[in-house]
Amino acid sequence: MHMDRDRVICAFEIDGLIVDPGPASCVDTLLDRLGPVEPRALLLTHIHLDHAGATGVLCRRFPELRVYVHERGAAHLIDPSKLLASASRLYGDEMDALWGEVAPVPAERIQSLAGGETVEGFRVAYTPGHASHHVCYLHEDTGDAYVGDMAGVRIPPHEHTLAPTPPPDIDVEQWLDSLHTVASWNPQMLCMTHFGPVTDVADQLHRIRTALVDSADSARTDGEERFIARLENQVGAAVDQEGVLAYEQAAPPDQLYKGLERYWRKRAEAA
Ligand SMILES: [Zn+2]
Repeated sequence: MHMDRDRVICAFEIDGLIVDPGPASCVDTLLDRLGPVEPRALLLTHIHLDHAGATGVLCRRFPELRVYVHERGAAHLIDPSKLLASASRLYGDEMDALWGEVAPVPAERIQSLAGGETVEGFRVAYTPGHASHHVCYLHEDTGDAYVGDMAGVRIPPHEHTLAPTPPPDIDVEQWLDSLHTVASWNPQMLCMTHFGPVTDVADQLHRIRTALVDSADSARTDGEERFIARLENQVGAAVDQEGVLAYEQAAPPDQLYKGLERYWRKRAEAA
């Protein structure tokens, strides 16, 4: 229930472990749904505020809570000032209403990940592309993969899939490579932050590859206005009115453009 809307941000609980707790603005809902469960660790896919904003608040509330995060994200949990500055450029005055308190995380709670290790019964893979510090987790007992933003934004009951491409880290080639890594796990299920588990794994991986390449092409050739109009037309044709609002909240179209525009600009500069 993000800003009173359901099916926007999903948190998963598995035997006292939480994958991506979401933002602090949703922490009351999270605690309510956890009931008597005392979480023992958070497995973060990445540190964007919609996935991990509540981490510091939860560490304060649960003194034993540990936090797993990719090594490139750890410093920004301990001192969130850069993360907040970067998010403020995108969200301005709405920061507080959208995300709530972003409390610093005590360094001693954090276990840094590189990818390739196994923690708490989960295999970890480094999966850059959406964020330079994104990881995915494979639950070895069930074969379920927790993929954060890597498999896209797909709001049930719809199949329409958007590639979430906000600034500043988008890298299309790395993202496609990371999808190979996820596919090579041969998962039973993809557990997506936006929104929920899906079992048509191969089809979903195909949807996100297509959406990412299509959207990157459009950002390169169309310019912002046409990019946004095209994307909104596609969503509008595929989903109902409530769905349109949920897609827009999970993946604001102007941000999707900004991230891809920056990606193409950096590539041109490098060339
Ligand atoms: Zn993200």
